[in-house]
Parts: sequence; C-alpha cells; structure tokens
Amino acid sequence: MSNGDVKLFQQTAFSNIIKHVVENIKEGIIITDENGDIVWVNDAFEVVTGYKREEIIGKNPRILQSGIHDRAFYKQMWKAIIEHGHWQGEICNKRKDGELYVEWLTVHAIYDSEEQIANYVAIFSDITLQKNQLEQLKKMAHYDMVTGIPNRYLFTKRLEELTKIAARYGQTLAVMFFDLDRFKFVNDTFGHHAGDLLLQKVALRIKGILQKKDTLARFGGDEFVVMIPAVSHDEEVIRVARAIIEGLKAPFVVNGQDIYVTASLGVSFFPRDSEDSTLLIRNADRAMHSAKRKGKNRFEIYSQSEHGSDAVDLALENDLHKAMERGEFSLHYQPLVHLATNEVVGVEALIRWNHPERGFIPPATFIPLAEETGLIVAISQWVMEEACRQLKELQRHHPKLKMNINLSTSCFLQHELIDNLERFISCTNIDPRYLEIELTESTLMPNAAFAIERLVQIKKRQIKIAIDDFGTGFSSLSYLHRFPIDTLKIDKSFIRHLSSYRGEAAIVKAIIDMGRSLNVTVVAEGVETEKQYKFLKDYGCDCVQGYYISKPLPFDELLPFLHEWKAE
Ligand code: C2E
Ligand code: CA
Ligand code: CA
Repeated sequence: MSNGDVKLFQQTAFSNIIKHVVENIKEGIIITDENGDIVWVNDAFEVVTGYKREEIIGKNPRILQSGIHDRAFYKQMWKAIIEHGHWQGEICNKRKDGELYVEWLTVHAIYDSEEQIANYVAIFSDITLQKNQLEQLKKMAHYDMVTGIPNRYLFTKRLEELTKIAARYGQTLAVMFFDLDRFKFVNDTFGHHAGDLLLQKVALRIKGILQKKDTLARFGGDEFVVMIPAVSHDEEVIRVARAIIEGLKAPFVVNGQDIYVTASLGVSFFPRDSEDSTLLIRNADRAMHSAKRKGKNRFEIYSQSEHGSDAVDLALENDLHKAMERGEFSLHYQPLVHLATNEVVGVEALIRWNHPERGFIPPATFIPLAEETGLIVAISQWVMEEACRQLKELQRHHPKLKMNINLSTSCFLQHELIDNLERFISCTNIDPRYLEIELTESTLMPNAAFAIERLVQIKKRQIKIAIDDFGTGFSSLSYLHRFPIDTLKIDKSFIRHLSSYRGEAAIVKAIIDMGRSLNVTVVAEGVETEKQYKFLKDYGCDCVQGYYISKPLPFDELLPFLHEWKAE
C-alpha cells in the first residue's frame, strides 16, 4: 500500500468508526444547519425524545422545549454558543408524549472554511433518573420518611443557622423536646404500622398548633423536637407547650381504635441555657426526662441547677443494667389481713434494690427508670419467678396464702405476658388461684377495650386481678364494672386522712359500698393507726394492709411473722 493508500484507508476507516459511534452512542445527538433546523439525529435521540427521525428533520429543536426555562435562559445559552463556540448545562425538555425530562446538554458550533457557522451539534444524555434519585436522596437525608417532617439532620442545621441569626439580632429562641408517653403501648399492641400511623397523626396535629415560623422535626422513635424562633417572652413558649399537651388529649383514631397518648415536654432557651445548638437540644431533652419522672403528661423548663446534674441518673441507669446479674434485687412481702377473721390472707411482693454503694433505693426511684430503659421487662420476669417460687415455699406452711404481684404498664402490654405467667405457674407448680396481679388505673384506662381483652385472658388462667392505688387515676367509678376484677385496693392517700377529714371518709365509704355491690374484695392500703383500722372494720372493708399490721418483710422474717400472727 502506498502512502496515499494508507491515508485514504485511515480516513475511510476513521469516518466509518465515527459514524458507528455516533449512531450507536447512548447519548442523543442532533445536527442542525446554520439556521438551527435539524438535519440529522441519531437513534438515541429517537429513544430519549420519542420523535422519529423523519418527523423531526427540518424542524427546530425548540419543539423539545418544556416551558420551564424563561427567555433569559435561552438567550444566555445562545450568547455563549455564538461567542465561545459552545455551551454546556442542565436543561429540562419535553418528550413527544409530553413527559418532562432533564438532560445534560452540550452544544457546539461547527465552522466552515470561512469561519462562518455552518452547523450546530447538540449532544445530550437523559439524567432524569439520576436527578430523581438525587432528589430522593436529598429528601431521605433531610426528612423523616414516616411523617414527612424534617429529621434530626435538617433540624440541627436549621437550628445552627437560626441561632446565628438570633445572636446577631439579640433574639431568644426556644427548643422543645418531647416524646409520647404511651407510644410503646401502641407499637406493642397494634404493631408498627399502627405506630407509624399514630406518629403521622401526631405530627399533623402538632403542626396545626405551631406557627409557620416554627420547625417540627422527628428525631426517631417517638421523639419530636420543636424550634420556636424569635420568642418575645417565655410565656409564648409555655403557651405552646400547654397547647401541645392539651392538643394531644383527644383520642387518635388508628385502624378504627381510639388511642390516647400523652406527651412529656422539656424546653430550653437560646441564649439563656446555652449558645450551642447541640447543648440546647440536650438541655431540652434533660428537662423532658425530668417531666417524665415527675409524672408524665407535663412540661418542664430547663434549669441549670435542677437538670445540670443528670449525670447521676446516667450512673444509676448503668448500675440498674448490672443489678440483675449482681443479684442486688430482693423481694419483701407485706401481709394483707382479713378484717372479719383477722387472718393473714395474703402478701404483696414489693421489690427492693440494694445498691452496693448507695444502699437501699426505693422502687419509686428505679421503677420509672426501669420503665424508661425497658429493663422493667426483665425485672418483672424476675419478680414473677421469685414470687412464685417463694409462694410455693410459703404454702408448705400456709396453704391458703395468696401472693400479690405488681405489674407495670409495659409488662401488662407485653405479648409474652400470658406465656410467661403460664410458664412460672407450671415451673413452680403453684395453684394460679392464689396469684393476684395488681394493675393501676393508668395501665388499664388508655385503652380499656384492649385491657379488658387481656384481663379476660389472665382470668381464664384463673389468676386474680386487683386494681391498685384506686382513686388516684382518671377513671370514673362507673366504668369499673366492665373490668373483670377481683379486688379493689383503695390508695393510701385516702386512708391517711381518714379520721381527720370527713370528705375522705365519705369517699372511702363510697368505694367500700361500691366494691360490695360489684362483688369485689376491697383492700385498704397504708393503714397505719388503730383508728384507721377500726374505721375500716366498721364500714365493712374486707382487708387491710399497712404499717399497723406490718411493714414489708424480707422472706426470712415473713415466716416467723406469719407463725406468730397465727398464734395470736
Ligand atoms: P404500691 O403497689 O402501692 O405498694 C405499696 C407501697 O406502700 C409500698 O411502697 C409499701 O412499702 C408502702 N406502704 C405499705 N404500707 C404502708 C403504710 O402503712 N404507710 C405508708 N406510708 N406506706 C406504706 P414501696 O415498697 O416503696 O413500693 C412503691 C411502689 O413501687 C409500689 O406501690 C409499686 O407501685 C411499685 N413496686 C414495688 N414493687 C414492684 C414490682 O415488683 N413491680 C412493679 N412493677 N412495681 C413495683
Ligand atoms: Ca401494689
Ligand atoms: Ca398501691
């Protein structure tokens, strides 16, 4: 082959390769004449735009315009092409079927030998999918998938920005942290789907309470955070906190069920409590935990002196995790005496935590902590097992003795409750008729229908049921007959003033009468004096429990006590 032949071959081969590439490349290509009318398009053009080659030749690419971009956009594009020979950028176009798509477009001007524009070549790739994915990613990164409200990331970013603005203008800003006191209840009983629905409804209701300038975010689980910028007075935030608590009072209808939730809120202020956005959130969180400990369904404003030392609680929480394996729990037993016969008919198991450094920690301190951390489930199982075991032992001498066991809300709601009860009963081989579960009104009331169902399951196993601390909850006397209960335990706060306030005496008398008409056993708790004891006996109360009879006793003191009592 001569040199000339090689050159010709290279040229032909080269143009064949180019032709092949241009025709088969997945980027769309448009070639126009100097007026901008289309003279050639490749296969990919047809695929992306939906136009056939024959229907587009001779037309202006304007046909693809989506209407999204204004005239200035195209003007600037053409200016660049004329002045610099090319333009590159993102553009939104319309397919033949009307669907919009986003393309990454490069336009080149092609010049002839006289340096005049002879053609334009546009090369584009459809990036709609990637764009959508990016948008989706952005959304996922910034918004909570369940409720659609901002997530922790976006909230923190906004808070950082807004604290800067607040600092510049000398403004106050509030951060409010709250979580739902009974969310776990819904998740555990109705499943996660219902839980998600509830979260959505809660978010919607709270948004309705807030103003446009406020931000509501979900940090995960049942934790929500509100940011209120440009606060003119503390009272403004307190009003919002009250409105949220009030606003949650009406039931949420989820899957046809009425669900009651309450919230505990904590508030911190910028710059008073901290100028750092992370600390602001943490302080609001601490105040919220304090609100929970003080009885839930309330709000608490952060105060350095009160909440600054929460590290102590963290240490306690750590110790609580270890308490079980270290064997630091024990049960004490408080006797219940039948007034008519003066016999000890049963004992109530009350848990004790003997902390290695701090000594005895009362259940009122660590049970709420155990509830918050979920440790209550393991603790309760231990209590049930231990109580069943020791009842078996006690019944060797006192075969008719009953055992009362306290059950916290989360344990009552636990799926495995019935299985566990059955297991403990069969392992220890006790007669379930001698077991009584104590539940408070606040455990039963939020979802009475579910509670009744569960109580019926418990009763089917012949286990007895008592309502504990009766009178302190928010229930009315009238609903009581709906619950299949055996015992009503009048809260000790009514007994305390029994002989000094006539009002208390009337309430106690009414409860005793009502118990009788419902055919349930009425127990008075916290009986400390002979006067109280006599009053209760006169009014026909069935049983008493309290220091007047005996303090809760460790197991090895209980047997001698029972023995002596019998001998009396
Ligand atoms: P509770 O079920 O109402 O138990 C009665 C409480 O009253 C006990 O307090 C008992 O020691 C106390 N008490 C008894 N007689 C008198 C009296 O005459 N006067 C006064 N002022 N108090 C009296 P304790 O043992 O500190 O328990 C406090 C609460 O902790 C219990 O209240 C119960 O709600 C909870 N708790 C105790 N043990 C358990 C448990 O094993 N599981 C669960 N979930 N909760 C428990
Ligand atoms: Ca009790
Ligand atoms: Ca009680």
